[in-house]
Amino acid sequence: MFNLIFIAPVWGPAKWRCTKMICKVFAIAAHADDIEFRMAGTLILLAKAGCEIHYMNIANGSCGSAEHDAETIAAIRLEESKNAANKINAVFHSPLVNDIEIFYEKNLLAKIGSVMRSVAPDILLVDGPMDYMEDHTISSRLAVTAAFTRAMRNFPVDPPKEPVFNQVTVYHAQPHGNRDLLNRFVFPDFLINIDSVIKEKSDMLNEHKSQKEWLEKSQGFDVYLNTMKNFSRELGNLSAKCEFAEGWRYHNPLGLCNTDSNPLRDILQSKFNEVPSGLG
Ligand SMILES: [Zn+2]
Repeated sequence: MFNLIFIAPVWGPAKWRCTKMICKVFAIAAHADDIEFRMAGTLILLAKAGCEIHYMNIANGSCGSAEHDAETIAAIRLEESKNAANKINAVFHSPLVNDIEIFYEKNLLAKIGSVMRSVAPDILLVDGPMDYMEDHTISSRLAVTAAFTRAMRNFPVDPPKEPVFNQVTVYHAQPHGNRDLLNRFVFPDFLINIDSVIKEKSDMLNEHKSQKEWLEKSQGFDVYLNTMKNFSRELGNLSAKCEFAEGWRYHNPLGLCNTDSNPLRDILQSKFNEVPSGLG
């Protein structure tokens, strides 16, 4: 019942967001290169459609090297992430904690909540709710709660920001490798055809040179980019309409947006494909 009491004054006229001139999209993931693996194709299409893109990794990449110390690799990965975000002219928001230190706790939630209010997105893209890695799962929970509390004046955010009263539609990306923590394939609710932008998605991922080189030293040439393409191809095969796709699931709209809100469908139109019923 709390939801219903809370959202009544927050909601505006039905579908008013679809008529806005500029749609704001906020992609939040756990680590540097997570956005590139699971969300970037959709982001590129949204940027081409005129949306304003915001980009944030919650953790700084401090554990992403067997060679450099934490501070050095975090600095390298910050530059790599900025370079990737620049490819789609995204507004970059700095990471907040070290790798493996993404906990569902008050201080981190307050910081993400402050960024959420400053962006006030119409579309929020987050990690999958169940992923092989806890950082991913918890980043999803933090981002959703940060959105849920955007209008709560009595929830203090850090730094302080006035509450915002926008509708926000939340979508979960596929888990890494399209499989959950029990290694079961996760069926998305719908797919976005990314055939036309797979090269640009690959170029964004290619900016994470420290990770690419690290992986290729042990596993061979181009394994980094090909892993991403294989994940995208597995989803393309589900649609039977494209070679490469990204999969998304709807978050429950309570407290967030109208029940029929679906701006990814409205904006991307022909790229949007429901997953055939009976598969999931
Ligand atoms: Zn990750």
